[in-house]
Amino acid sequence: MADHKAKLFVFSAPSGSGKTTIVRDVLKNFPEFVFSVSVTTRKKRQAEKDGVDYFFITEEEFKKKIEAGEFVEWEKFYDYYYGTLKSFVDDNLAKGLSTVFEVDVKGALNIKKAYSNSVLIFIAPPSIEELKKRLTERNTETEEDFKKRIERAEMELSFKNNFDYVVSNTDLKWAKEEVKKIIEKEISEEI
Ligand code: 5GP
Repeated sequence: MADHKAKLFVFSAPSGSGKTTIVRDVLKNFPEFVFSVSVTTRKKRQAEKDGVDYFFITEEEFKKKIEAGEFVEWEKFYDYYYGTLKSFVDDNLAKGLSTVFEVDVKGALNIKKAYSNSVLIFIAPPSIEELKKRLTERNTETEEDFKKRIERAEMELSFKNNFDYVVSNTDLKWAKEEVKKIIEKEISEEI
């Protein structure tokens, strides 16, 4: 896509907002885009693959990477560390490839600080009640983690006005279409 600007499409949303489904749809619609695989110290969920969904490493390894300055940004929440690798982003940008991120709100704002060609997209859940229902149905968290995630969701929602776009996921099909239109508009801007 030499005619187009490589951009960083950064998605944030409280967990259970349908963000992962929307991000998968983006990668299907724009197969030339690359997903930024983050590094984390949390345990791998059953359906996840190391090196595909995340690079799963130990806390000790993570701390070494912080010291070595390997992250564009990193955050610690729910007792786990999550970080975006600078090398991953820079390699893709050097190849002219747009990259898709799925990070928390603070991570998104820090990515934009580091790379001005970032487009921040917030996926908003219809309501906190709906979010609780979705998280309960997903059933991947312990009760304590569930509570922490809801508190965090409330905090994340308070950041949505700092994003370039806010897409409400009341209807998944509509939200996917909306995101597709945003990306088409953003990549159609010639250099
Ligand atoms: P989960 O444990 O559900 O996969 O992710 C928990 C939260 O961490 C989500 O909000 C997810 O977007 C965020 N996250 C994943 N990778 C990164 C990262 O590299 N940096 C930051 N700041 N957040 C991340």
